[in-house]
Amino acid sequence: MSILDLNRADHLQSKAVPLHLTLSDDFKFALDLLPNLIWVSHTNSGYCNIALKQYIGADTQILRDVDWLKFVHPDDAEHLYQIWNDAQKNGQKFEKECRIKNKSGEYLWFLMLAEPKVIQSNQQNWMISCTNIHDRTIKMRETAEALRANTDMLDVSVDCIKIITPDGKLEHMNKSGCMALLGQERVKKFGIDWLTLLPPEVREQGAKAIKTAARGKNARFAGMSTHGDTVMYWDNILTPVHDEQGNTTSILCVSRDITRQRVAEAKLKISSEYDDLTGLMNRRAFKNKLKAAISQANREKTLIGMMFIDLDHFKNINDTLGHPAGDHLLKVLSKRLQKSLDCKCIVSRLGGDEFAIIVPGMTSEEELHQTTQKVLKQNIAPITYAGKVINSGMSIGCAIYPKDAQDVFGLMKCADTALNDLKEKGRGGYRMYDDEMFALAEKKMQQLDTARYIIQDNLIEPYYQPKVRLDNCQLIGFEALMRWHDTQQQLQYPASISEAFNDYELASKISEIMHQKIFSDMADWMSKGVQLVPISINASPVEFMRDNYAELLIQRLERHQIPAHLIEVEITEHILSERGVEFVIRALQKLKNYGLRISLDDFGTGHSSMTHLRDYPVDCLKIDYAFVNRMNEEKSINSIVEGIAKLGPILSLDVIAEGVETCQQLLSLQDVGCAYGQGFLFSQAICKSEAEQLMLKQVCAIKDWLPTDKQ
Ligand code: C2E
Ligand code: CA
Ligand code: CA
Repeated sequence: MSILDLNRADHLQSKAVPLHLTLSDDFKFALDLLPNLIWVSHTNSGYCNIALKQYIGADTQILRDVDWLKFVHPDDAEHLYQIWNDAQKNGQKFEKECRIKNKSGEYLWFLMLAEPKVIQSNQQNWMISCTNIHDRTIKMRETAEALRANTDMLDVSVDCIKIITPDGKLEHMNKSGCMALLGQERVKKFGIDWLTLLPPEVREQGAKAIKTAARGKNARFAGMSTHGDTVMYWDNILTPVHDEQGNTTSILCVSRDITRQRVAEAKLKISSEYDDLTGLMNRRAFKNKLKAAISQANREKTLIGMMFIDLDHFKNINDTLGHPAGDHLLKVLSKRLQKSLDCKCIVSRLGGDEFAIIVPGMTSEEELHQTTQKVLKQNIAPITYAGKVINSGMSIGCAIYPKDAQDVFGLMKCADTALNDLKEKGRGGYRMYDDEMFALAEKKMQQLDTARYIIQDNLIEPYYQPKVRLDNCQLIGFEALMRWHDTQQQLQYPASISEAFNDYELASKISEIMHQKIFSDMADWMSKGVQLVPISINASPVEFMRDNYAELLIQRLERHQIPAHLIEVEITEHILSERGVEFVIRALQKLKNYGLRISLDDFGTGHSSMTHLRDYPVDCLKIDYAFVNRMNEEKSINSIVEGIAKLGPILSLDVIAEGVETCQQLLSLQDVGCAYGQGFLFSQAICKSEAEQLMLKQVCAIKDWLPTDKQ
């Protein structure tokens, strides 16, 4: 920048200052007393006060503006020239900070104020007054430098950093902030309301955060910004900056771009809500949809239909044809369900071979019945895999909102209860929930809970019911039956936990405890020299599921050194007509080879064919209590009992009658040729010490408390 152009300044001054004006001596005297550097235009020249004269080291006080203005620093002079020129044209005062050289050649900072003044009547002069602001300016410059350095530092950050006043005005924003909020590198003018830069939907949260920060507390909120199609997400942290008195002077807001994280989260959400295999919603998403459907039904006063679907024997498809076949079946069915149902229906896969369907906005229950029919139809057209038809049956449990339950959990439970009820009673088709089912399901749950509790607290103990020869009541064996004492020391029976015998884990655990206790009782008796009779133990059908029943039992016998011929296993006749019979036969064969006896329990109530009896590794038939109980009243029943009693010897099987309660029954059994019996007439199941006593006696007494007519 050049120094003030003297010629141009000359020209300027001669034009701007009226030549005819003069200053009084009094006025000059007053000017000389002031510490400011003052210059007043005067005729065609100007008057400088003593302070100015001495500062620049002039010889005289009569100086033209150009004479002393050449002492202004070259960097400030150009601009000063321009505004001095403009001011005189438009008569407007101005202020300018500039450096003026003193007589030692040193530049100090002054605030120059130039204004037109009426000094004497009708005289208008220009007065330029310069106040020394050197110290203050230097400090400010240093501060500005520091601020600039900080600003540069802030610009390096990828986070958007803003300094906001407690009332929400933007004081400063770094480069990243400017780019994100304004799409430009710099803000032209600070002081704008920060909230106006945010998208309307997050302004309320922003305002709240500022309020919190202004009160001196940290605040945080999730924000977003949009530029064209690009949406960015921000995590905004507002930290108040306090002065020494603890007042919030400004708020530092750091906004971190969490867009990538959000996108990743959104992707994760999709994968966490949809099933990979079928593309249907999973259980989680299903629950959310059901919740939304309930709100909608409440608003619109409509009903919701709910279906739980289970594929019958799906495990078999996986086991026999492999998992790819199972997967194929699930995929095809999913597609068919989605295609065939009304678009308002929500189909989802809850896991494994379980599907669920929500039928929202129903006006009558009939709609659910119709949808169920549609669903069942999807299974009719053949589904093939590797040239094989792999269709499986379908069972559907249904519930209706709000009739059956009023919330997500309850409704799902009702549909599940209906499905379980259907599965237990034979599978296939659909079943609508009713409250009786629920009571039944509750009862089952209670039984399972009780079973868990008695297992955990080791309350189970074996009781022994004698088996006798019917002709002389001689003890021929015991059936071990499970008992436990409740908290009131009342003896409890298996009926109150019968559901546990259908649960693999619980039934196996109960058996393990029973075996361990029976075998240790037997070992104890043996050690005392008691003459032992064979003891039979009951096995539930589910215990054969893992195909290791025989191995486990043999291990336990060996551990307690119990001779195999002293143990008999009782299985119900039903087991031989159920799935997995091959496991049962393998186990029984193995046990029989080991030397154990096998009894077919509850005989006559199942469907085992007489001819097949030969093929099973069975030693004994136990005629069911129901026959014995009615044999005296019904001739046909008496004939059945007789038939079984005669069949035994033909097939080389022993026959024993269960549930003998009366002498009349005893006599009838003797009449039809039944050799052995068991029942309350002889004894209930008795505890270990009573059993020991009986083994010492070897003979059971017939109960004398029975009514005489029945003896
Ligand atoms: P179950 O195997 O048919 O056992 C015979 C049941 O008939 C026993 O009932 C016995 O107390 C009862 N009983 C015996 N004589 C008479 C009689 O003269 N009249 C009547 N009304 N009943 C008689 P309990 O002990 O209540 O057992 C019921 C069922 O629980 C058993 O039927 C058996 O299936 C099962 N069970 C019992 N203990 C065990 C066990 O340790 N393991 C397994 N898996 N099942 C067991
Ligand atoms: Ca039994
Ligand atoms: Ca029985």
